[in-house]
Amino acid sequence: MDTAKSRESVTTDREQGSQLVNDLAEVSRGKSEHTEQYQFDVIVIGSGPGGYTSAIRCAQLGKSVAIVERDLLGGHAVNWGCVPLNSMIASARLIRSIHECDRYGIRIPSYRIDFSYITRHRDEAVKKIRSQLKHFLEKYHIQLYTGNACIVNPHHVLVKPVQKRTYATIHDANGQSPYETSDYTSVRADVEISGNNIIIAAGVEYELPHFVEKNDRKSVDPTELLWRRTIPESLIIIGGGVLGCEIASLYSHLRSNVILIDKNSRLLKCMDEQVSFAVEKCLKANGVNITLNANVERVSNGEVIIQLRQTDIQRTIRGALVVVCVGRKPTFDYKYLEQLGIRIDHEQSTIIIDEKTCQTSIRTIYACGGIVSSCWSWVSCAVRQGHIAANAICCVSENTNNSKFHMATNPAAPFVINVIPAVASVGKIPKSTDNVLIYMYKFHTDRRAIIDSQTWGFVKMWTTSDEPKRFLAVQLAHEAAAEIIQYYSMIISLNLSIRDVCFLSFAHPTYTESIKEACEYVLGQSMNYDENLGL
Ligand SMILES: Cc1cc2nc3c(=O)[nH]c(=O)nc-3n(C[C@H](O)[C@H](O)[C@H](O)COP(=O)(O)OP(=O)(O)OC[C@H]3O[C@@H](n4cnc5c(N)ncnc54)[C@H](O)[C@@H]3O)c2cc1C
Repeated sequence: MDTAKSRESVTTDREQGSQLVNDLAEVSRGKSEHTEQYQFDVIVIGSGPGGYTSAIRCAQLGKSVAIVERDLLGGHAVNWGCVPLNSMIASARLIRSIHECDRYGIRIPSYRIDFSYITRHRDEAVKKIRSQLKHFLEKYHIQLYTGNACIVNPHHVLVKPVQKRTYATIHDANGQSPYETSDYTSVRADVEISGNNIIIAAGVEYELPHFVEKNDRKSVDPTELLWRRTIPESLIIIGGGVLGCEIASLYSHLRSNVILIDKNSRLLKCMDEQVSFAVEKCLKANGVNITLNANVERVSNGEVIIQLRQTDIQRTIRGALVVVCVGRKPTFDYKYLEQLGIRIDHEQSTIIIDEKTCQTSIRTIYACGGIVSSCWSWVSCAVRQGHIAANAICCVSENTNNSKFHMATNPAAPFVINVIPAVASVGKIPKSTDNVLIYMYKFHTDRRAIIDSQTWGFVKMWTTSDEPKRFLAVQLAHEAAAEIIQYYSMIISLNLSIRDVCFLSFAHPTYTESIKEACEYVLGQSMNYDENLGL
């Protein structure tokens, strides 16, 4: 505890700060006489991938660190987002394997889905990862405060008791609230903590769009859907983005009658057209009913009224449940951050940060992960930004001669969309085709794919036309896409030319061999691959 030091920094910052910061500092000063005070090197707000990465990295580099988390340790990603969703998708993948197993000589004439075991598996995955995180916090002596963080000024954070749990109504497979755990004990009264630096890693939260009737019992967000104890007989999904498509794929495998609605003319606008058409085809083959070009006008009591854009016809669609996969907002209101002096780009809806350090316009405050950009974010970006922020705070050089890929918006950060089969992407598709070549490699001649009977899928590659050719972007649709994409990310990150890759050796028979074959194809040196062979 270093009260004198913290008071001194309050005075300095108050002189520089805005009126609001002054007011907040006054409030907290009044309170601080009755509350404890702490002094840390770094205060991290949020314990998701951005938060825990930056906290652990700072602690590894010798800093004293506090994390303030208002919800369960691990953030949205571990507790309510990618871990629960993907653990349920693991069950859906098995269902698909059962459907395909005839062709491998295994007959499973009938099977039964026991949803209570699927949800139990989900709960175990979440708990295990959360307890592993807790271990790391203890190992590095990181102090966890469970409470609502309010930034008072560039060095002070007020931790307030949690008034309302984010998912208070959710129960796990055993009927217990996920909050019934020793990891979750809210501070009882306001606690003021101070730090040399603050990292905001507070993520985003769902925001129900205006067209959804308030308190509608048949409309849920994706997390509420994943925690239901039963599979809805029919499910209407609003939004054909990443979450909408993943949920459509999952619940159609769980035999729900799925209707997917999107306002755009195709699914997955973030992906190349051919990839999104491939996803659309797979979803339809699995029984998903897809309506595109549809503006949702109203959602109430399981009824969705849509206006078809091309014909102006209005239709009503009915389902047992509606899951709304559109609408997200930053957990910290950007206006509030702006009043603190943090600059915001309203057009892009992002916090303005220094690309090389994740520092905001306030010298002591850094930001990383979902909160930086209020649109969709990936764990890979949150983790990378958390690392960058921690290294910058601890003055550790990123020590690389390829600085482009060590910036907050790393073009080589890969991502996977876990539909079945999966699709994945790395790099930015060039806006112009000048000096760009495009190639398509299909898996029909891939030896591993033939052995596994998994020849459906392709790799689309955008390369420079200059020699030596390099990848600009790669998108993949294949059962093994999630693993293969990582190698393309490494090739781009390490700035390897396509010719360099052809010199590498790959174990046989593996899906990663397809990378070498795709590269040989780009260079006109294929030994196994021919576009028309055996299609
Ligand atoms: C259903 C779903 C599935 C997803 N699947 C994937 C996937 O497969 N792969 C992938 O890469 N990404 C996936 N994502 C996205 C991924 O969850 C985010 O990219 C990731 O969570 C961002 O991490 P973060 O650290 O920025 O924020 P979060 O994980 O959201 O963590 C932020 C934390 O900050 C806390 N917080 C907010 N405000 C305060 C405050 N005032 N005081 C204290 N604490 C606060 C929140 O409670 C939260 O726990 C998925 C998202 C969802 C919703």
